[in-house]
Amino acid sequence: MDTPRSNFLKTQIQADLDAGRSDCVVTRFPPEPNGFLHIGHAKSISVNFGLAAEFGGQCHLRFDDTNPEKENQIFIDAIQEDLRWLGYEWHGEVRFASSYFEQLYQWALVLIDAGNAYVCDLDAEEARAYRGTLTEPGKDSPYRGRTTAENRDLFQRMRAGEFADGACVLRAKIDMASPNINLRDPILYRVRHATHHQTGDDWPIYPTYDFAHGQEDAIEGITHSICTLEFEDHRPLYDWLIEHLPVPHRPRQIEFARLNTSYTVTSKRKLKLLVDSGTVDGWDDPRMPTVAGMRRRGYPPAAIRHFCEEVGTSRSDGMVDMAMLEHAVRGHLNETAPRAFCVLRPLKVVLTNVDETSVLRIANHPSDESLGHREVPFGPELWIDSDDFRESANKKYKRLVIGKRVRLRGAYVIEADRCDTDKAGTVTTVYCRVIENTLGEDPGDGVKPKGVIHWVASHGAATAELRLYDRLFNDANPGRAEELLSVVNTDSLATIVDAVIEESLTNAEPEQVFQFEREGYFVADRHAHSNATPVFNLTIGLRDTWGG
Ligand code: ATP
Ligand code: MG
Ligand code: MG
Repeated sequence: MDTPRSNFLKTQIQADLDAGRSDCVVTRFPPEPNGFLHIGHAKSISVNFGLAAEFGGQCHLRFDDTNPEKENQIFIDAIQEDLRWLGYEWHGEVRFASSYFEQLYQWALVLIDAGNAYVCDLDAEEARAYRGTLTEPGKDSPYRGRTTAENRDLFQRMRAGEFADGACVLRAKIDMASPNINLRDPILYRVRHATHHQTGDDWPIYPTYDFAHGQEDAIEGITHSICTLEFEDHRPLYDWLIEHLPVPHRPRQIEFARLNTSYTVTSKRKLKLLVDSGTVDGWDDPRMPTVAGMRRRGYPPAAIRHFCEEVGTSRSDGMVDMAMLEHAVRGHLNETAPRAFCVLRPLKVVLTNVDETSVLRIANHPSDESLGHREVPFGPELWIDSDDFRESANKKYKRLVIGKRVRLRGAYVIEADRCDTDKAGTVTTVYCRVIENTLGEDPGDGVKPKGVIHWVASHGAATAELRLYDRLFNDANPGRAEELLSVVNTDSLATIVDAVIEESLTNAEPEQVFQFEREGYFVADRHAHSNATPVFNLTIGLRDTWGG
């Protein structure tokens, strides 16, 4: 789907094609495997895969794995699973920046040989002082004048593992007086004696993002390297490296604004803090804005894709209301989720004029007949929600009241006669009568029911655990909080252990989503749900209750 705001990337790509600067479109999604994918990544995925599809091109999946200490095979696997779940398939093999380490090393030597890179022994603090500031130019490093032969020798020894972490770096020789700090002799390689998940102990040096990314793009024949705005100031460096190296292609970097959603953090570092502190139940906790969390929450992938398209793509940072994603989720589920009955706060109803059980055939969806019907047991004793009964109430209360009528959804009209209460005054049982001939018909005496309530017959019921989720943060912009954990909503999970469900729901498959009528959308938990111990997570309520 097209939106006016998504046009600027397309316009630029189209212009490149028209001018012959590109003859095809190849994009890439380049996650660092240091965490799970989140909603911001979903946006990047939608942009990169979307543009490739739109122009008949290809999109690669490339792990930008240049920081071995923070990366992990678990994340590599999870990212692929999440991408596929979202509905995308990358072109060809999964690619790894680490498989280009030898080529990158050779290109670093090319820069050295041309006098465009040097080994620098300043430590981090000294280097910072030499770098200057936004208003002050930097100063040349005392090591900037090393000869090519000396640099070659030192760099080869860095590669051979002769130096300790932090002892020296390889820097590009560009311009310490550049107004763009990224061009003040940026670091290309660091010494880091770390075991890498792909390359083991082969490399004691690792390229920086700046040195690696554009060259990886060039190796893969990426035509348009789409990234977020914080890399705009790195683009001159990206282009400088491409110009000074014998790369096989000339990719073009284009930036767009990150997606920020309210009540959410989309920084892997912060998401990791939530996981490591035990604030949530892992990366796929249903409250997490991760793809795996949204999956476990019951969000349909199509709704996430739809949302990412709807928000468009812009060049200025903004905050998107989380309600917009929820609106998309609700819209998809309203059309696709089968209906079922679940009573959250069970109250017993005895139907005094019913003495036999029967089975009713009830449609699974109000408008989509293809979702079929199910058999729902009916009998002399039912559960209804205790919020759906009052001994007396004013006219605004459209549920069950003594002396008044209500329709049981998909079944009969009943009228309440009396109730039992316990010592504390809590109603324990409501005694009602079924009004004859009211299955799909209004009562013959013309006294219509006040409303419709859901129910479960006690002989055809099972119990379920329900996990009711609320937003994870109290603050609309939790990313700004100094202490992330201080803005966590400590009431974001409420558990009901003994909700009553209709028997058919015990057959639900993990990840199946239902509309529990009048309550909300619920998904059978991916991990905890089984026929013997049903567990459902609240996906989303039936209406937007966030109030903006
Ligand atoms: P984080 O700060 O969470 O670690 P990152 O940008 O470092 O994010 P990467 O794994 O490098 O994470 O991201 C892979 C791709 O996803 C990059 O191209 C990045 O620009 C993009 N991306 C990450 N977050 C967002 C976001 N919020 N909106 C749009 N694109 C994003
Ligand atoms: Mg990154
Ligand atoms: Mg990062």
